[in-house]
Amino acid sequence: MARYTGAVCRLCRREGQKLFLKGDRCYTDKCAINRRAYAPGQHGQGRKKASEYGVQLRAKQMTRRYYGVLESQFAKYYEMATRKQGITGENLLRILESRLDNVVYRLGWASSRAEARQLVVHGHFNVNGRRVNIPSYLTKISEVVSIRPKSKESAKFQAILENTARPVVKWLDRDTEKLEGKVIALPEREDIDLDVQETLIVELYSK
Ligand code: SF4
Repeated sequence: MARYTGAVCRLCRREGQKLFLKGDRCYTDKCAINRRAYAPGQHGQGRKKASEYGVQLRAKQMTRRYYGVLESQFAKYYEMATRKQGITGENLLRILESRLDNVVYRLGWASSRAEARQLVVHGHFNVNGRRVNIPSYLTKISEVVSIRPKSKESAKFQAILENTARPVVKWLDRDTEKLEGKVIALPEREDIDLDVQETLIVELYSK
């Protein structure tokens, strides 16, 4: 299963905004965006104004990086989004939000999507009572994601659960006693805290 393994703070600096890829560190003064708010590399401080294509490309790259999705998978999600009813850009974001690793992150059971992805791969979650270890699994309305009984007891999860103070998005219902979360709706655009103009992504793929 391919994934990006380079320095993630460079990605935030390239996009010029926090993508929250490093968990707790993102909320501290150590965040690279706070320290060096310019693009990485030798010419990072001297870049010229982006072209129309450049702006569209950045919107796509930022979204892809925010969710930790590789190029080919992202293109597949776009195709799926075009086949659904409604606004393509919003459909795309909804698909990305419904990924199992994102749902685990949104439920507060991981400090970043990268950590959520690793926990999913290691088989710590059930969906509707069945073990699912595929981060790209797309959850559906009424499905219940739960932490597997054996995993709840592990020291790693105990530490994670002590830090689940993040508020849960309104399209998920978290039960802190049973340690499960139900998908109760599809997220609306205003529920998705990614500062991107998704129409730019649609324009890019429509060329
Ligand atoms: Fe991005 Fe987090 Fe690194 Fe800050 S600390 S640059 S938000 S990954």
